[in-house]
Amino acid sequence: METLENKMRIGILGGGQLAMMMIQMSAKHNINFIVVDPNDNPPASKYAECIKSDYNNKDSLDYLIDNCDVVTIDFENVPSEALKYLENKISVYPGSYAVEICQDRLKEKDIFNKNNIPTTEYHIVNSEEDLSLAIDNLGTDSILKSRKLGYDGKNQILINKHSSKEAWSLSGKVEAILEKKVDFKTEVSIIGVCTKSSKTFFYPLVENFHKDGILNLSIAPYENSELQKLAESYHNKITKELNYTGVLVIEFFLDKLGNLIANEMAPRVHNSGHWTNEGANISQFEAHVMAIADINIKNISIHGNSAMLNIISAMPEDINENSNSYKLYDYGKSERLNRKLGHITVNNNNKKDLIENINRISKSFF
Ligand code: ADP
Ligand code: MG
Repeated sequence: METLENKMRIGILGGGQLAMMMIQMSAKHNINFIVVDPNDNPPASKYAECIKSDYNNKDSLDYLIDNCDVVTIDFENVPSEALKYLENKISVYPGSYAVEICQDRLKEKDIFNKNNIPTTEYHIVNSEEDLSLAIDNLGTDSILKSRKLGYDGKNQILINKHSSKEAWSLSGKVEAILEKKVDFKTEVSIIGVCTKSSKTFFYPLVENFHKDGILNLSIAPYENSELQKLAESYHNKITKELNYTGVLVIEFFLDKLGNLIANEMAPRVHNSGHWTNEGANISQFEAHVMAIADINIKNISIHGNSAMLNIISAMPEDINENSNSYKLYDYGKSERLNRKLGHITVNNNNKKDLIENINRISKSFF
C-alpha cells in the first residue's frame, strides 16, 4: 500500500484557481500537495492542506522545506526572497531567477531583445519628464504600464486620453514603461513545458481575445506551422537562458504583416491553456506537475478544436454544471467586478462546430 512516506510532495505558493487545477488535474499521480496562501479559503484549499500565511513567513517556508520535495508557484508575484530561501534547501521550479524576470516588464523586454525576439517599441519611464519625452517619441497611441504587479490589464493607462502629467499621476508614479500600441491582427500564446531532462513539449499556438485587457476567449489550435516553429524557437531560447523547468507561456501580438511580437511571459500555467484540460492528452496543469516531479512525459497531443470562455465579474444564473456541450469550472470565488470566477471549455471535432457552439454559449450566458 502507498504510504505518505513514498508519495511525492509538492508545495505551491499561491492557492488560486491555477493551483486548484494543478491539484485536480494530476490526481492520478497520487501526489501530496501543500498550499500556502495569505487569503481565506482560496480555491485550492478545497483540495489540499492549505496554510494561511504571507509568502515570506519563515515558519510556513520551513514547513514546506520539511514536508515537500519540490515547490512551485501559482502566480508570479511571490517575493523572490521567499523562493531564494526555499531554494537553499529544496528544489523550486521555476527558480527565483526566472520568476524575478517575469515579475518585471522591463527585464522581460531585455531578455526578449537579448535573444533577438521582437518586442513592441518602448521607453523606460521613471518620472513625468521621462513620460513626456517618451510620448514625444512614440506618440499618444501608446500605453503606460507599470513594470511590476500588472495583470488583467491593471496598472495600464492609455495615453491618448491623458496628458503626461495626468497619466504620471494616475499611474501612482511607479517605475514604468511606455509602450507603443500595436495594431495587431490577433494575439496568440505558446505554452511549452520543460522537463528536468531538458526536453520541451509544446501545445499548438492558442488564439486569444481580450476585452478591456482581460482574457475573454481562447481558441486552439491556431494553425500556422511557420508561426508555430518560430514561437517554439523563441520559447526555447528563453527557457535555455533561464534554465527553466515546468510550464512557461509567452504571449505575442501577431501584427498585420504576420510578425510575432512578444508581449509578456508567465512563469507558470496560464489562462490561455485552460482548454488543455479537455482538449489534450495531458493538460498544462498535469504537464507542469509531471515536469517538476520528474515524471516522464512521452508526448503531448491534442484532440479536435477547443475553446475556453472566461466567466468574469458574475456567475451566469442558469449555467449548467452538468452540460453535455460544455464543461464548467467554478472557482468558488465571490463575485467582484472584473474578477475571474470560472471558465467554460468546449471541444469539437471541427472548427465550424466549435465557433457555432461558442456563439450559442456566449449568447445565452454573456
Ligand atoms: P497583463 O495581461 O499583464 O495585464 P498585457 O501587457 O498582456 O498585460 O496587456 C493586456 C492586454 O492589453 C493585451 O493582451 C492586449 O490585448 C492589450 N495590450 C497590451 N499592450 C498592448 C499594446 N502595446 N498594443 C496593443 N494592445 C495591447
Ligand atoms: Mg497579458
